Amino acid sequence: MSGPAASLKGFLIRGLPVIKEGDDIPALLRSLFDLQDGDVLCLASTIVAKAEGRMRDLSEYQPDSHAVEIARELGKDPRFVQAVFNESSDVLIERPFLLVATRFGHIGVNAGIDQSNVGDEKILLLPEDPSASARRIRQALGKDCAVIITDTCGRPFRSGVAGVAVGWAGIAALRDWRGEIDIHGRPLNITQEAIVDEIAAAANLLMGEAGDATPAVVFRGLVYPRSGGSLFREKENDIIRPRLKS
Ligand code: GDP
Ligand code: MN
Ligand code: MN
Repeated sequence: MSGPAASLKGFLIRGLPVIKEGDDIPALLRSLFDLQDGDVLCLASTIVAKAEGRMRDLSEYQPDSHAVEIARELGKDPRFVQAVFNESSDVLIERPFLLVATRFGHIGVNAGIDQSNVGDEKILLLPEDPSASARRIRQALGKDCAVIITDTCGRPFRSGVAGVAVGWAGIAALRDWRGEIDIHGRPLNITQEAIVDEIAAAANLLMGEAGDATPAVVFRGLVYPRSGGSLFREKENDIIRPRLKS
């Protein structure tokens, strides 16, 4: 497997409007940027979710007694906690934060539900199946490009947030280095590099987190495998449960 290209360019696409349900993101992108075959397009999950109608009013949620109890302990709105539970297939940690598996397999705090860049009393759920969204967008763009849907997440055992991939199409999630030879002639037997996360982190760095209004980044010049692998565990019981030292 060849490594990344010698020259990598990143383009921040400017001029996208505030996205509403039903907006045609591929058409908007086409009007602003001349995407080429081989490009990697990164989109903040926020705009994909807005276009897909994933905005909710907090008033839509009736918290059950468990959501009320956890919300009180976490100092959160019980309706928000109920929304997190509704989006989860498994709850891994409830205190001091809610770490859950989403229905599509991503593990994240608060199920990736956002309250920033959204509006008062509103929440934004992640797209229902971000890889399916990425495939639809890629098809509509009509280019042999990769599409990565990103979200800003906290990381285990480190401070600070960074971009990760929550969905992708036209690119392998993992670059497989197994069988490649190291500088001393030993074959690698474990390393699978999460390239979509690495690219998502770089894209997130350009997008910003606040009012920049730049949710789309294109990388040109990357050499990447086209298919294979996932970042998510296949089966629910495959999730490694944290065992806290007592
Ligand atoms: P997340 O990382 O997917 O949760 O998204 P963020 O809320 O951090 O936003 C990422 C980038 O997209 C920032 O530059 C935001 O200003 C921008 N952004 C968020 N929503 C919109 C929108 O509806 N339209 C535009 N043009 N930019 C947006
Ligand atoms: Mn987010
Ligand atoms: Mn972000």
